[in-house]
Order: sequence, then C-alpha cells, then structure tokens
Amino acid sequence: MIEFVNKSFHKVRNELAEVGLLARGRYLDSVDLYISALPSAGEAGYVFESAAQWRRTRFKPGVIYLPSDLPQDPKVPGYSLADTIRHEYAHTWYCLDPAFFRESWFIDAFGASYANCNPKPLENWRRQLHRDDEYSVRRDRCRSEVGKQRLFDRYYRQEFITDYASNCASEDFAETFMFFLRYRRSLERYQSRPRVYHKLMVVQRAVERAGRRLRQRRFAYKFHQVG
Ligand SMILES: [Zn+2]
Repeated sequence: MIEFVNKSFHKVRNELAEVGLLARGRYLDSVDLYISALPSAGEAGYVFESAAQWRRTRFKPGVIYLPSDLPQDPKVPGYSLADTIRHEYAHTWYCLDPAFFRESWFIDAFGASYANCNPKPLENWRRQLHRDDEYSVRRDRCRSEVGKQRLFDRYYRQEFITDYASNCASEDFAETFMFFLRYRRSLERYQSRPRVYHKLMVVQRAVERAGRRLRQRRFAYKFHQVG
C-alpha cells in the first residue's frame, strides 16, 4: 500500500511542478504526506488548516493526512487516490500562502472568502437562481415535477463541478483545483458548463500567477547572491 501511496503522491507532485507550484525545496515542495494512525471517519484524506486545531489534536497544520485504513477502492466512483491528494493539496496551498487567497480572485470566483462557510455556496446559489428570470420562465414551462428537477440539475451542474463543491467556498475551490490538475491539458472539455469552466479558468490564472511569482523570487534571489 505504501508503494501505491508514494506513486500517487509523486504523480501529483510532478503535476504541481509542471504547472509551476512546486520547485525544489520551495512552495508546495514543503508539503508532507503522512498516513495517520487513525482510521477513516468517512473522509478519504484531510488537512488541518489552523494552529488552534494543531494544538488540540497534535496533527500538524498544512500536512496531508490519509487515514490508516486507506480504502483501495475510491468512495466516489471514478475518483482515485491521486484525486484525493490533488484535493488536499488545494487546502495545503491555502495553509502555505493564505495572503494569496485573500486577493480578489478567490471571492470573485467562489462567492465567499476561503474561510467563510456561511452561507454555504449551495444556499447562495439557490437564492441567485430564484432571482434568475430565464430560469423562472423555463421552470414555469415545465409540466411535471420531474421536468423541473431536471432543469434544476442542469443549472446545478453548470455551477458546481461536484456535489461536494457546493458545501463551502474552500471545498468548491479544492474540487475545482483537483479537476484543474487532472485535466490541465484539456480543460475545454468543461466549456459546456460555463460557470464551472469560468472557475477552472480562474484557478488556472491563479496558478500561473503564483508560479510566475515563485520564479521571479528565485531570479531575484540568484541576482542578490551574485551581487
Ligand atoms: Zn476538502
């Protein structure tokens, strides 16, 4: 199992290096992955984000933990261990660089600040949907409850990349980041889901910006050394 975990961890680390978020000894390279002594209480992986949690639980903040009884089969069909690790990396990125997540890009795309889970994105979105004239007209045209549900589901799929993403702005980001990494070379597959695609594009631009900043700092450092 350790080999399987290592393989998945390295696969995701390579992806992060490819998109520019991980350089030798720097930025996301500092993130560790541990297999916890505790079995899963329903989660596939987790990250403690605050020092307060760390003092209470002795889990280190910003480290990816996988449960001791790590399931070999994904809980959600189609998800791999690499997907869990991709998702958890999104949370560790926030832990490492919270100031970057306080910039306007995050709230513009995900509707709330990273740490704000009240109201939930689902509630926020439902409120917006009920004010949407086009949706109201379409809904009134549906003759059956099944038709109305289908219409709702279609709008819902345009907004959230997965069900889990509708829980919190931070989870919406983490799920979007997971799919960004997985499909980084073919993101256009999401063009038929405009809001989801928009979030993916925002994440892509944020990744590029963070990567650029990381490279510039390295150049500045080298220049400083030479000088
Ligand atoms: Zn999460």
